[in-house]
Amino acid sequence: MKQSKNQTYQGVQVFAPATVSNMGSGFDIIGFPIEGAGDTITAYRNTTPDVRIVQVTGYSDIPTDPGKNVASHAVRKMLESLDSHQGFDLEIHKSVMPGSGLGSSASSSAAAVVAVNELLGRPYTKRELVNFAMEGEALVSGGKHADNVAPAILGGIVLVRSYNPLDIVNIPPPESMWTMVFHPQIEIRTDLGRSVIMDRIALKDAVKQWGNVGGLIAGLYTSNYDLIGDSMEDLVAEPYRAELIPGYQEMKKVALSNGAKGFTISGSGPAFFAICDSREMAEQVKEVVSREYEKHQIDFLTYISRVDRSGTVVLERFHVEG
Ligand code: ADP
Repeated sequence: MKQSKNQTYQGVQVFAPATVSNMGSGFDIIGFPIEGAGDTITAYRNTTPDVRIVQVTGYSDIPTDPGKNVASHAVRKMLESLDSHQGFDLEIHKSVMPGSGLGSSASSSAAAVVAVNELLGRPYTKRELVNFAMEGEALVSGGKHADNVAPAILGGIVLVRSYNPLDIVNIPPPESMWTMVFHPQIEIRTDLGRSVIMDRIALKDAVKQWGNVGGLIAGLYTSNYDLIGDSMEDLVAEPYRAELIPGYQEMKKVALSNGAKGFTISGSGPAFFAICDSREMAEQVKEVVSREYEKHQIDFLTYISRVDRSGTVVLERFHVEG
């Protein structure tokens, strides 16, 4: 259904995908959304001047206090900037566990701001909405990170080149690129994942890291999987965060020796992912890693996906009766 300029809707339902972030050497700057996992948010205008969380389903262990939930917080920031006193009710359905490393909170922030923007007649572009979704991230991770919310909203592989001013660069995903995301069902809090990383790195490591970032971008542009895989090597976060994920190093070895082109941790974990050059390869890597992981007796979920190209999408619009 197409929205005409003068038409207003009472409610809207949107979907924002889960995101892989910290693409290896692209620590804190490169991420992409996956297909088929994420948050669905239904937003309605209400008759109060406030934003309320009226329902959480799927993974419901998140705050419903609007000051503590990233979705309502991000929307409040957006309404403040518009000087709007319209209130909204948000129903959140989560398909990815919080603390996953797959941008569970980012999916909520992204879906919420896109939904309310739609109900307000789209005062902001998708790119502008990233700023408000980042406020949601700041609420739970202490920093205004865009490496999950930008890909969740915009789709495609995203490089956050600069924050001040915010500069988001889209990198075209190789046509044949697939990923296998493996999510052990344990929670690693983002603050713990961050606390294990050094706040200084040696110049020789920095040189290697930015060589890798350059190589990764070149590899993505030219669909050179050997270059992508080699360049994903991360000296900043992976060596420390790997310690927090049971079986990580072993799974990396298994995946790379069975055809994966690159392998690293998503976000601050526990999810990790393999880059593959076909769906068949991603399926094969999933099979071997799943088989090996069984000995850890930790439940897990897997996703086989291309890079999602759409970002946050409107699923449905609702009118009021009468
Ligand atoms: P992830 O990497 O999966 O996004 P984070 O650790 O960044 O995980 O965020 C999870 C934290 O954010 C949890 O403490 C959770 O309670 C809090 N949180 C607040 N609102 C939400 C929300 N709408 N969705 C997910 N997590 C939320």
